[in-house]
Amino acid sequence: MNHTSEPPRTRVVVAGGGTAGWIAAAAIVRQLGPLVDVTLVESDEIGTVGVGESTIPTARSFHAFLGIDEAAFVRATQATFKLGIAFENWRQVGDRYFHPFGSVGRSVAIADFQHFWLEAQARGFGGAYGDYSLEQQAAGAGLFGHDEQHSLAYAYHLDATAYARFLRTLAEPWGVRRVEGRIERVERDGKGGNIAALVLASGERIAGDIFIDCTGFRALLTEGALGTGFEDWSEWLSTDRALAVQTETVAPPVPYTRAIAHDAGWRWQIPLQKRTGNGLVYSSAHMSDDEAHATLIGALDGRPLFEPRPLRFRSGMRRKAWNRNCIALGLAAGFIEPLESTSIHLIMNAVIRLIQLFPFRGDDHVALAARFNAQSRHEWEHVRDFIILHYHVTQRDDSPFWRDCARMTIPDSLAERIALFANTAGAWQGQDDLFRIDSWVSVMLGQGVEPRAHHRIARIIKEEELQTSFADLSRGIASTMRALPRHCDFLARYCPADG
Ligand SMILES: Cc1cc2nc3c(=O)[nH]c(=O)nc-3n(C[C@H](O)[C@H](O)[C@H](O)COP(=O)(O)OP(=O)(O)OC[C@H]3O[C@@H](n4cnc5c(N)ncnc54)[C@H](O)[C@@H]3O)c2cc1C
Repeated sequence: MNHTSEPPRTRVVVAGGGTAGWIAAAAIVRQLGPLVDVTLVESDEIGTVGVGESTIPTARSFHAFLGIDEAAFVRATQATFKLGIAFENWRQVGDRYFHPFGSVGRSVAIADFQHFWLEAQARGFGGAYGDYSLEQQAAGAGLFGHDEQHSLAYAYHLDATAYARFLRTLAEPWGVRRVEGRIERVERDGKGGNIAALVLASGERIAGDIFIDCTGFRALLTEGALGTGFEDWSEWLSTDRALAVQTETVAPPVPYTRAIAHDAGWRWQIPLQKRTGNGLVYSSAHMSDDEAHATLIGALDGRPLFEPRPLRFRSGMRRKAWNRNCIALGLAAGFIEPLESTSIHLIMNAVIRLIQLFPFRGDDHVALAARFNAQSRHEWEHVRDFIILHYHVTQRDDSPFWRDCARMTIPDSLAERIALFANTAGAWQGQDDLFRIDSWVSVMLGQGVEPRAHHRIARIIKEEELQTSFADLSRGIASTMRALPRHCDFLARYCPADG
């Protein structure tokens, strides 16, 4: 067999140039280079969804995968650093807890940290669980830095429009061909029913071997042309509308996202270097659009830069992320409401998965698609469960929305997790699970699950030994904190926004 001749290039057509489209195009061309021809079609007239500004730490590994320079990225997207999410009014009105990135305390092989912390609580010391999270303590004090000595787990807040633009400036020189125009028709091949080409309003026809549907909520290819079907999760995640608005910055940016619950949903506050992103997520069955508008406007800290923009969505996922020769990414693949800022992560992970399972010409696409879809489903259901947890486990009963959330029947997979934690303080992270044990514990405790028992191993530890190890942890955190700069000083020195 001759291995020296170049294999035929696979023609990849990316439909849509929002965050999903440019992430996909940039990553595929960067990783598969000479094996593919990548064309991206986007419509200036239609534009992008314009939200999606809070990320989780996996964005950093994705950037490393593409060889993206962090300081250049932060400057171009006026990004700030994020150490976690502050949840306000979730367990009860007036209550606040933090879901930090990174590890909390120190676990041992037999038992995770929460068991020792619960034992300390039972003996009357130990403080709050979050006292043992460096990220939470640094966030609360407005500190951030990263160098060899300080390895904080962090993510970014970014300007969504600038991010797509930034990825474009990388992807085009790497070889992506960009076509501007409106897709008017999706042409299917008569025999197999695969997508054959996109036909633009200009009449231009863009043929391909595989098509990546990044057309946002429209899902033009996977739903419009292929009728893939949508699995609706609104029985558990009933928020279905949002109002988004940017405001002038009135204070130095904090290194965390704020998620503030209200009577029928929650409100986000995402600080960038030069403005703040705000939005109100709500259930239209429990709050009118006028009430939502008034609630958002009444809560803003700074002057709005435009009228709030309405968005409609439904939580759920496409029945098959990969159907025939079409792979849906981003909002075209589905949406889990944005409480834990997971959408961009799901795009990045799906693109990595696609590159690993790439359907080159002549490959067994059916087997590749089956694997891709199984992994996607696991990932999405896991994220879905984690978000439902925030709504379902609450002591709020001050509005019909919260009473409905507390009463709903939840998926068995989540019920199992809650029962294990409530009965034994146990939590787990499966092999492909995004959320770590520390995340489940932070949110379970934060939302008000009080474990009835914890691992007995913690009970046989001598009081003095337990005290010493907690004191050591606190000392370690305090000493790192002393060396950390203020978040705003770090931004000003390392990566002030362009312009
Ligand atoms: C209220 C809300 C808050 C969110 N917050 C977060 C968050 O904090 N963190 C997070 O990770 N994610 C968040 N998300 C999700 C995030 O916004 C998306 O995952 C991300 O922006 C990707 O969007 P997209 O590229 O799939 O779609 P879009 O940005 O809508 O892009 C669609 C693209 O398709 C093109 N297109 C559509 N139709 C045609 C056509 N006929 N012809 C040519 N081109 C076409 C458009 O022009 C555009 O370029 C949020 C979403 C919502 C709704």
